[in-house]
Amino acid sequence: MKNTFLWFFFLFLLWGNWVVWEEIEQGRGAKVVFFDIGQGDAVFLRTRQGHRLLVDGGPDKTLESKLFKELPFWSRRIDAVIATHPHQDHIAGLLPILESFDVASIIWTGVKYDSSVARAWEEKIKERKNDVTIAVFSTRVVMGRDILDILHPSESLEGQVPSNVDNTSLVARANLLGTKFLFTGDMFKDKEQELVSRGFDLTADILHVGHHGSRTSTDPVFVRAVSPAVAVIQSGEGNKFGHPHQETIATLQRYGITILRTDLEGDVVFRIKR
Ligand SMILES: [Zn+2]
Repeated sequence: MKNTFLWFFFLFLLWGNWVVWEEIEQGRGAKVVFFDIGQGDAVFLRTRQGHRLLVDGGPDKTLESKLFKELPFWSRRIDAVIATHPHQDHIAGLLPILESFDVASIIWTGVKYDSSVARAWEEKIKERKNDVTIAVFSTRVVMGRDILDILHPSESLEGQVPSNVDNTSLVARANLLGTKFLFTGDMFKDKEQELVSRGFDLTADILHVGHHGSRTSTDPVFVRAVSPAVAVIQSGEGNKFGHPHQETIATLQRYGITILRTDLEGDVVFRIKR
């Protein structure tokens, strides 16, 4: 009898903790974290109503420990994992997340790429095929009152073997309480220009700078179309590619855009309140 009471008491405490946590989370508004994850991309988004999303996972297992700090210890739920393209620096860190977190859905382009990490990713995707959405333009992720729209690719790339995987990068724009974030993976300038010429509304408050600040991305025409106040560059400290390149920094500075770099500042965090 005493044990039963203790169990109920324990469950009550757990439930109370959960309710309090949810209240605190919602009271804090939405949150977006660009992790300092070395040379790669990994972004965590939490809506005001508590939906949790990942855009890419970085080059190794680091994301796992980063996520533990963002989530309460009793909840490993991730509502959606979005992979922009199957390069190691974007998907390797997602593999352990698919193993040990409770991931509800996976959104990616379905392109083929020949590497051991990409093959491991495809295996995982096959096991989870009922939870997978192949992203194409006009796919919309609805998270309560917040949304995430897929702007690229324009048609399904499932099973295709592209000559430039970077250019197949999924482009997504999240709108959290009216603040817009644009993610472009490692898309090159020619594709950025194509998006502009298609007449999409690309405007965003925060631009996740393409390809870790490489000179291959961030075309001035594209930057003007997005017209962000802030640009975030995820690149590894002392990376062998020399990212971000000076040309990219100069382009962003020319338009008076505030630049935040994970290699210099660590995790870059945005809190959005209504
Ligand atoms: Zn990359």
